[in-house]
Amino acid sequence: MAQLSDDCFAFAGALLPIEEVERLLGERVAPVAEIETVRLDQAFGRVLARDVVALIDLPPFDNSAVDGYAVRSRDLAPDADTTLAVAGRAAAGHAAAQALAPGAAIRIFTGAPMPQGADTVFMQEDVRREGETVTVPPGLAAGANRRLAGEDVRAGTTLLTAGRRLSASHVALAAAVGLTQLPVRRRIRVAVLSTGDEIVEPGAARPRAALFDANRYLLAGLLAGLGAQATDLGIVRDELAAIERAIAAAAEQHDLVLSSGGVSTGEADHVRSAVESIGRLVFWRVAVKPGRPVAMGVIPAAQPDSSAAFVGLPGNPVAVFVTFARVVRPLWARLAGAVLDPLVPLPVRSTFAYRKRTGRREYVRVALRRGPDGVIEAVKHAQDGAGVITSLTETDGLVELLEPVTAIAPGDSVGFLSYAALVG
Ligand code: AMP
Ligand code: MG
Repeated sequence: MAQLSDDCFAFAGALLPIEEVERLLGERVAPVAEIETVRLDQAFGRVLARDVVALIDLPPFDNSAVDGYAVRSRDLAPDADTTLAVAGRAAAGHAAAQALAPGAAIRIFTGAPMPQGADTVFMQEDVRREGETVTVPPGLAAGANRRLAGEDVRAGTTLLTAGRRLSASHVALAAAVGLTQLPVRRRIRVAVLSTGDEIVEPGAARPRAALFDANRYLLAGLLAGLGAQATDLGIVRDELAAIERAIAAAAEQHDLVLSSGGVSTGEADHVRSAVESIGRLVFWRVAVKPGRPVAMGVIPAAQPDSSAAFVGLPGNPVAVFVTFARVVRPLWARLAGAVLDPLVPLPVRSTFAYRKRTGRREYVRVALRRGPDGVIEAVKHAQDGAGVITSLTETDGLVELLEPVTAIAPGDSVGFLSYAALVG
């Protein structure tokens, strides 16, 4: 289980800014220690545990980038066509049979080793082949269409750094230098529960005043996207003792326990009290909209020096999404030893006016479209309630309005974050 430093996150302020949340997580949460070695085909989405060094050059040998004719550039006339005798053939997968003789060309195919003495390759579309000669035009730069050994990766250099979440491209790179397995951190174990007397399981009989549970499915999908190992704890009633029991039991087996709902200050909101009684509340309000009430805490487990992190997310699905992206994902990254790429908002043009309070960060659900002048525009979803799930499914991402901003107007440049960037 996770090792969380005992004194983490003591924070007395009312609303904790997002940057402060990230700084505290970065300072105080340590990655899980266990490292395992997995085969490449099991490595997608895992977090690399150690730097990986390339043991060979990539490409491993000089080779042709095209189908055509390998030549020696100094044999060519600078301003006129040059006719060369075709003396040999070099195919992919076969060591070059012979060296290139002066004044000659060798028929060569993509990926074939460059014959000794050849430094340049003409594409077959650019030459005139007549019998056993080939005529090439002037003007091709020396070295054209040749791939040099090590131009992609040099033997001895660091190929992938620890903390990297392995995408298909990273695994392909490891394969290309001949690796068969990679050291990764173990997956983070996350327990997920919903709270609420009004929440019922999809498919169950639904009383008139009840809602089907959307949040557990939202969280399951978001956690799968991070490569975490999720356990579904179902729906817990709005009852302090039941919530305490569920969280305490989950803390024994998991690195992180996530709940949704029950975290505000209503009479039926017991999550905060539950965390205060069985563990330690670290903060419970974050300066983010949608989202604001987010309880973060540490729940001790029976095993000495072991504890689970806890995050109590709001109940409204859109608030769950936003607080997952801005609080849970960075916390997961710390536990998982993953280094997240910084979120870089892309500038787009707002089509809408918006007012906000200073001191908190706000996220506006928008769809992108191309404006009449070709510039990409952000169109705000018509419904901005935090419970409107279609406002997520009908949009492309979030416009991020930073703490000092008070208003934006149509035509202003705003920062856009795609859903893929936010939770991928
Ligand atoms: P709460 O913070 O518990 O008052 O919840 C805020 C709003 O989110 C209420 O309207 C809840 O009905 C709704 N909500 C809570 N949990 C879920 C859930 N699992 N799925 C869908 N809506 C939920
Ligand atoms: Mg509730």
